[in-house]
Amino acid sequence: MLAETGSWFRLGLANWEDWLANKWPEDCRHEIEREALAAVIPVLRLRFPTAEDVAAVVVKRKIADAELVAAGGMDARHAHQMACENLGVRSRTKGLLCPGCGNHSTHYRQVMIPMTVSGPQSYFQCYHCGQKFGPVDVAK
Ligand SMILES: [Zn+2]
Repeated sequence: MLAETGSWFRLGLANWEDWLANKWPEDCRHEIEREALAAVIPVLRLRFPTAEDVAAVVVKRKIADAELVAAGGMDARHAHQMACENLGVRSRTKGLLCPGCGNHSTHYRQVMIPMTVSGPQSYFQCYHCGQKFGPVDVAK
């Protein structure tokens, strides 16, 4: 409701507990805001009772973002996934050159793993030597 109406509340982390306890109605500019906030305040009090709880969520989000960047970001992970799919289609009949043992064959398995925060995960695995590899390793 508040997001739909473009409402916002700016308060410092140091003021969080006072705001949550009893100051929040003072910041409402309209009865609609007061009603909408009144509905979520009990949930906020339960889930984020202290400024530390709010900070922990912010830190957690920042860590998740940092991991995403470290893993090459969304674009890199999409690119890896697409490359795996394309390589799998191209190599189904022609085979692949395993970077581990150098065997060129169709004797490998393709493991497609849904994208997650932890980066590119889909891979190919050679049945000859057990080496796991991705499209980048094959392109070398
Ligand atoms: Zn191999």
